[in-house]
Amino acid sequence: MAAKIIDGNKIATEIRQEIKERIAKLKEKGVTPKLSVVLVGDDPASISYITSKAKGCDEIGMCSETIKLPADATEMEVMGTVDTLNKDPGVHGILVQLPLPKQIKADNIINYISPEKDVDAFTPLNLGKLMRGEEAFLPCTPHGIYQLLIRTGVNLKGAEVVIVGASNIVGRPLTMLLSQEKDGLGATVTLCHVFTKDISVHTKRADVLVVAVGKANLVTADMVKEGVVVIDVGINRIGKTESGKAIIVGDVDFEGIKEKASAITPVPGGVGPMTVTMLLVNTIEAAERAVKSCC
Ligand code: NAD
Repeated sequence: MAAKIIDGNKIATEIRQEIKERIAKLKEKGVTPKLSVVLVGDDPASISYITSKAKGCDEIGMCSETIKLPADATEMEVMGTVDTLNKDPGVHGILVQLPLPKQIKADNIINYISPEKDVDAFTPLNLGKLMRGEEAFLPCTPHGIYQLLIRTGVNLKGAEVVIVGASNIVGRPLTMLLSQEKDGLGATVTLCHVFTKDISVHTKRADVLVVAVGKANLVTADMVKEGVVVIDVGINRIGKTESGKAIIVGDVDFEGIKEKASAITPVPGGVGPMTVTMLLVNTIEAAERAVKSCC
């Protein structure tokens, strides 16, 4: 039986509808949640991500601004911009678009963002809270993946979850989140990476398989079991259509695996829309906390 296609656009739209009410309540108190994005240089992929974030804010009645710095900006200049945003009470969320040019160490900039405005949840404080299971902003892609799973009715308690890809923005925080011994979580998580001897040993026993590597066709149908739920995070540009549109695929062989899986995310239209949506959720959360702390 062919797999259920997990529609990230549909689930993202549902969540955006739900959060509109929270925005309306904030507006009644005279507060419009505001996201400030810092872009250094003019990387086309970064510009495209920023455009979808700004569009997302706009569509649900939030404010957004993009502060553009030249590609040769220094670390001090970027920190100066972050500092101004940290101190601005009208700004609730700060996002520094990655990657940054070579002369700037991303960690130095991320560490400088006020944790209360760290809506990407990349600062050590927010990641540390996630590790300890304390309430904190959740990194957007792992949070989006979690929402996709629970809204598809996947029971994570005791499930064998295998994550391929151990980056600080996807695999590692997702491991921390799904393995928490709490209601709705409680998975047994295996985290694979480039040094894993044979990923198929692990992928074959996954009830839930998440792949976040950045390699097209890394996981094929012979590497998964019948009934697996597959979340494909990868974004790989493998060419262009005749009309010049980029052809984008994920990390798994979608056509082959969908015949074996019980549910699978497409690329595009799976995890991508969720990442932006969870950024909006975090910005609203930041605005709500700011209102609470000043009243
Ligand atoms: P990264 O490059 O920071 O890390 C890649 C990870 O994959 C590393 O842990 C590495 O050890 C592992 N890896 C590399 N080759 C491997 C192999 N052959 N077998 C097993 N593991 C291997 O990646 P990232 O920033 O987490 O991004 C991964 C992919 O997910 C990219 O395609 C990226 O564009 C995409 N992504 C999508 C979203 C979204 O919202 N859809 C968000 C973040 C990342």
